[in-house]
Amino acid sequence: MTAIEDRPEAPLLVADRLTKAYRLPGGDRVSAADQVSFTVARGGSLGVVGESGSGKSTVARMLVGLVRPDSGTVAVEGRDRAARPPALGRARAAHRLARAREIQMVFQDPYVSLDPRLIARQCLRIALRLHGRDTGDGRIAALLDQVGLGAREAGARPHELSGGQCQRLAIARALAVDPRVLVLDEAVAALDVSIQAQILRLLDEIRRDTGVALVFVSHDLAVVRHITEETLVMRRGTVVEQGPTGRVLDTPEHPYTRLLLASAPRRGWDPADAVRARARAEAA
Ligand code: ADP
Ligand code: MG
Repeated sequence: MTAIEDRPEAPLLVADRLTKAYRLPGGDRVSAADQVSFTVARGGSLGVVGESGSGKSTVARMLVGLVRPDSGTVAVEGRDRAARPPALGRARAAHRLARAREIQMVFQDPYVSLDPRLIARQCLRIALRLHGRDTGDGRIAALLDQVGLGAREAGARPHELSGGQCQRLAIARALAVDPRVLVLDEAVAALDVSIQAQILRLLDEIRRDTGVALVFVSHDLAVVRHITEETLVMRRGTVVEQGPTGRVLDTPEHPYTRLLLASAPRRGWDPADAVRARARAEAA
């Protein structure tokens, strides 16, 4: 047997052949994810890109356990997240909380994911208490500070905060339990471009400071280019291309990735080119 220190470092997160089909009311099945596999290193960052309906959210939800895969596994530090929990009530609850601490999720709309009745400080205190963590004022202030929120925001409810501030609070709540992985599903999509840039910089800082790994789901290639080292491109539930973000976005190998790039508005962009590129891709 090889000693741990002799082994090349194992990936932090391993998604292996994740597959999920939804049954539609008429009886038809739609394949939302088909054999989706990837790994993320400790403190690494993976972008998951693709058009609306390509299966990105389904994959994100399978990672955190909100959607149960039809087949395939998710493992963190070599532990299968679907492993059977203990039978006893208290041990079972502890097991679930421990799993929740491994991977935390941030959603697109913080006004939906945050409780409107709670001021920011209470929101964080409840998350900390649930996981048996230090709920002291010092810890809460440090968490708020980590996401760039101050004393004024600490006493505010979600509707008294801007969209960007709310998303900072949602990120602080996710970080409260020191997760190994943060999954962000279109987490900046609803924000103004300048606020998006601030949140992306914040996430990058947090990744460097805490070593949390990021899985960044986005339809926006520019966002993924800024924040991720690796990128995975999804189309109709399947991975068409994956690799280092610069390589995938600068010299895409798959026609669909080229189509996505051609469709993204930029300087000198002509919508007619994007329409033609799509017609060619659909015909292929
Ligand atoms: P994305 O996040 O890339 O927009 P989704 O994962 O949300 O993609 O959806 C992938 C496919 O699965 C789409 O065809 C979508 O309509 C379908 N789908 C997603 N969630 C459900 C659901 N709960 N029930 C039925 N179909 C769903
Ligand atoms: Mg989605």
